[in-house]
Amino acid sequence: MANLDTTIPRSLMAALNAEVERTKRTTSAVITAALSQYLGITLHTLFQVSTSGALVAGVYEREVSVRSILEHGDFGLGTFAHLDGEMVVLDGHAFQIKGTGKVSEAGPDAGAPFAVVTRFDPEIDAQSDPIGSSAELEKSCDQYRNSGNIFYAFRLDGHFTRVRTRAVNPPAPHTRLADAARAQSEFTFEGLAGTLVGLWSPGFSSAFSIPGYHFHFLSEDRKHGGHLLDVVAGPLRLRVEALTDFHLALPESEAFLKADLSKSTTEELAYAEHSH
Ligand SMILES: [Zn+2]
Repeated sequence: MANLDTTIPRSLMAALNAEVERTKRTTSAVITAALSQYLGITLHTLFQVSTSGALVAGVYEREVSVRSILEHGDFGLGTFAHLDGEMVVLDGHAFQIKGTGKVSEAGPDAGAPFAVVTRFDPEIDAQSDPIGSSAELEKSCDQYRNSGNIFYAFRLDGHFTRVRTRAVNPPAPHTRLADAARAQSEFTFEGLAGTLVGLWSPGFSSAFSIPGYHFHFLSEDRKHGGHLLDVVAGPLRLRVEALTDFHLALPESEAFLKADLSKSTTEELAYAEHSH
């Protein structure tokens, strides 16, 4: 990041302040969006708060606010403080899917220990084949991934025949993620419209991210959702953005600073992320 010190007409300054007030974004965020639009520079940046390893090790406390997450992206996924449910960020709104199955929009002051977001700006807008399973979903998305060494964001919209999801319940403090995952709730939804919010991360990112595909589901009526376990759907509208810029924001909390993150957590993470 660089600093910009400049002189602009008072009328523009007033309009800028009004936009900041209206959107609840920072001045920097509004100017960056305006400049990137004027200069034709799209910023394919993935912004991540904390690391998957920290989550596995039980660093679940609030590290960042939803307001701050939404300043860095309008699309993505994560979890909430104390591991209280799954997060879906869609069209600039953050939704919380609790272990009870209840879905609500998270307020700007809600906290999260981990989130990954981008300003979704897809360069591919296609239609998938009918999808009969998670494996087929991944195969459909693979067709639009021309590298295994960068990140991708996938958005799929349409009618879902069947969706199986899970949502975490808040575990006792200091429980590792693999043990917390045992207390998750699972849900099956049939015949509904919705969206899959997905990220694909390269294998080398396993030290700090979740390698491979990671999808969260949110129904169109915003009443159902969760971390995707299995799916039958489609064909679905499929949009893809390749992401070549990665921003990792490390927490400054005591819990993060003191956590032992030296061990590989790949296996524990795989266990926690998948159906079992
Ligand atoms: Zn998830």
